[in-house]
Amino acid sequence: MLTFQELTSIVQGHVVQLVQPWPVVHLLTDSRKLSQPAGTLFFAIRGKYNDGHKYLPQLYQQGVRAFVVEQGEEAELKQQYPEANILRVENSLEALQKLAAWHRANFQMSVIGITGSNGKTIVKEWLAQLLSPDEMVVKSPRSYNSQLGVPLSVWQMEQNHTFAIFEAGISQPGEMEKLQQVIQPTLGIFTNIGSAHDEGFTSHRQKVEEKLKLFKDVDLLFYCADHALVHEAVQAKEIKAFTWARTQAADITIKATTTVGHKTIVVYTWQGMKQRLAIPFTDEASVENALHCLAVLLYLSLPLSEIQDRLDRLHPVAMRLEMKEAINGCYLIDDTYNNDLAGLAIALDLLVNQPQRGKRTVILSDLLESGLPEEKLYRQVAELVQARGVERLIAIGEKISKYRNLFTIPAAFYSSTADFLNQFIPGQFRDELILVKGARVFEFEKIVQAFQQKVHGTVLEVNLDALVHNLNYYRSKLAPDVRLMVMVKAFAYGSGSFEVANLLQFHRVDYLAVAYADEGVQLRENGITLPIMVMNPSPDSFAKLRQYNLEPEIYALEQLQAYVASLSGAVTSKIHLKLDTGMHRLGFTEEDFEDLFTLLKQYPQVQVMSAFSHLAGADEAVHNDFSQLQIRNFRSMADAVEAQLGYKVIKHVLNSAGIVRFPEHQLDMVRLGIGLYGVEATGDEQEALRPVSMLKTTVSQVKKVKQGETVGYSRKGIADSDKTTATIAIGYADGYDRRFSNGIGHVLIHGQRCPLIGNVCMDMCMVDVTGLDVKAGDEVTVFGPQLTLVELAKRIGTIPYELLTNVSTRVKRVFYSE
Ligand SMILES: *Cc1c(COP(=O)(O)O)cnc(C)c1O
Repeated sequence: MLTFQELTSIVQGHVVQLVQPWPVVHLLTDSRKLSQPAGTLFFAIRGKYNDGHKYLPQLYQQGVRAFVVEQGEEAELKQQYPEANILRVENSLEALQKLAAWHRANFQMSVIGITGSNGKTIVKEWLAQLLSPDEMVVKSPRSYNSQLGVPLSVWQMEQNHTFAIFEAGISQPGEMEKLQQVIQPTLGIFTNIGSAHDEGFTSHRQKVEEKLKLFKDVDLLFYCADHALVHEAVQAKEIKAFTWARTQAADITIKATTTVGHKTIVVYTWQGMKQRLAIPFTDEASVENALHCLAVLLYLSLPLSEIQDRLDRLHPVAMRLEMKEAINGCYLIDDTYNNDLAGLAIALDLLVNQPQRGKRTVILSDLLESGLPEEKLYRQVAELVQARGVERLIAIGEKISKYRNLFTIPAAFYSSTADFLNQFIPGQFRDELILVKGARVFEFEKIVQAFQQKVHGTVLEVNLDALVHNLNYYRSKLAPDVRLMVMVKAFAYGSGSFEVANLLQFHRVDYLAVAYADEGVQLRENGITLPIMVMNPSPDSFAKLRQYNLEPEIYALEQLQAYVASLSGAVTSKIHLKLDTGMHRLGFTEEDFEDLFTLLKQYPQVQVMSAFSHLAGADEAVHNDFSQLQIRNFRSMADAVEAQLGYKVIKHVLNSAGIVRFPEHQLDMVRLGIGLYGVEATGDEQEALRPVSMLKTTVSQVKKVKQGETVGYSRKGIADSDKTTATIAIGYADGYDRRFSNGIGHVLIHGQRCPLIGNVCMDMCMVDVTGLDVKAGDEVTVFGPQLTLVELAKRIGTIPYELLTNVSTRVKRVFYSE
């Protein structure tokens, strides 16, 4: 086992302090993921959005005694962390990579490195599946393929493993050399090259050449020679290759691929022999991914019958993890992604980061493809669930049941999913957060179904990764000291307040804002601890505000008078002053100032946290002059506030559009709203954002309507020819705007646009599906990436804000992450 002392010679740096022997077992880069302080080494890494050094005090308090840092006075570090071993280095991330590279070099096994634009994760997961009968495989968890993810992946390598598969992804030149040093692959797979992530590179060619650096020392590189750019570059570099191709000379020449039912039959020649195999997929990407795997299996000399047998059992890799409401106030995290130890650890992290969701329960199957001896595996599983504070375990499978003695937390064991479902009593689950994680063969979707509430077929899917992407996009525009307030009013613009707030808390924004006290109370009751500003506090909510530590926006004198009258004693009470600089909605004007300051001076316990104003036309360039004028007014008014109060307050004026348009006026904080939810209000940078929500429903019935007949209320939908219509399960009571009636609105069914026919009803509406193959139960997209809110809003003369916030609360929200 590695000790901290040995570490100091592997990772060169300056030993600030070495006070106790300390084993290095767990590498930590994200303080939120601490599970066992003993044996943890924390790397304080400075990232684009965060700085690990900020979390040293907290980790020290939690018992971590080994740190790699980049900054800090030696004397201060020693004084603050007297019992910690501390190593100071130039660059903590590079130190982590160096350590991982050292670890990697201890092993002799075959190590496959995978890169390429698409398919990395699937090829990795499939290969692990395909090789698992013969090999103990260690692989990257999920898509841990970054500068940070790769070293953490490689750190998992242990003596009992016989085969390793790691993926590597880069976004700019210079990164791959580092990943190569960490992975030191002996074999390589280059999946393909697409146009994604082109930003960091000057050309496709450069991108290919950068990626090829992963393979500089491999014995053999697997790739498809039909990708001309890849093929040329590999040949130019003289990398020894093993190729497959349809149109080129290759080691495996594909003669024909035909679709038969749900399979693709591939005929190819290999070593002069003609062979045929069935791949259990029909889409092009899956076939390509499977052919990469085939190349590796042929190279490893597996018999053809064995290859076919294993291919037959290949299953699609679920790339997302869903969160959804369930019976009796329970909430499910449904993770069917994969089922190894690293995947379990990631899912458990997520569980831990949903505070106050009630009791934490895990339903877990046998772990397959773990690459560990059974007893060791289940010992680690037991430690993991205990360390993450799981309160109840339901374990399903013969293997995990065999090791029941290792589990110290309350646990029930079942031999099979059917066994569990037979004994399932819904009333035994109440107000619990339940992680459902099972290997494919256990068919845990049946368990998920048993837990899910009955709802009508309309759901709003919220992509949490897209939300984080958008958050980071706006963050990247902020100067380092500028704080970020995020608007989660109106049910987080329709997306679901608690879930969004929780994610924002996890990603450490500085402030949240809601419209009403009740919204704030709800967040507090769900464990949100961030400061929260309430923009429309009514006098009868003042006591509640203080009880829940919510900070009111104060915009008028009478309101402030009522507020101070409700104060009791000298307890500090935080408020925010809204200044009216031209919007003429709410806020103090300069005429109010004298009275305002007089009153505030009488109540020194009232602390003004911030002063702010709102721009009336930041989204439209025609109003730029007016916005500038508002900003100037605001600055001078806010200065007056500070001068009168005699202390600094947080000054903020920009909303989402303002952040894009007036980067020079970020002041102390900005207020992000619609942009987080995927709509770039100025329209200039829409491309940079990812759509967050997708509203979906289903077809209830399909009908034939004859020419001249009518459809729906008031007989507004007139069939001008024979038509096929589909009745879909969404109406104005779900928030589907009635102005979409009669051809104004469209929905997507099987990717095709279908116009509305007739009026939108309360719970349903009808669309024209003439000529399309549509049946009851088919999925309908009401809005989403292919049918944007921006377009739909234009069609009915409104703004995306309205469409988003109108989605009624009876529409179930499903949150997922990729
Ligand atoms: C809603 C709101 C915002 C956010 O506006 P977006 O246009 O959604 O970015 C900012 N400030 C105030 C006062 C708001 O009410």
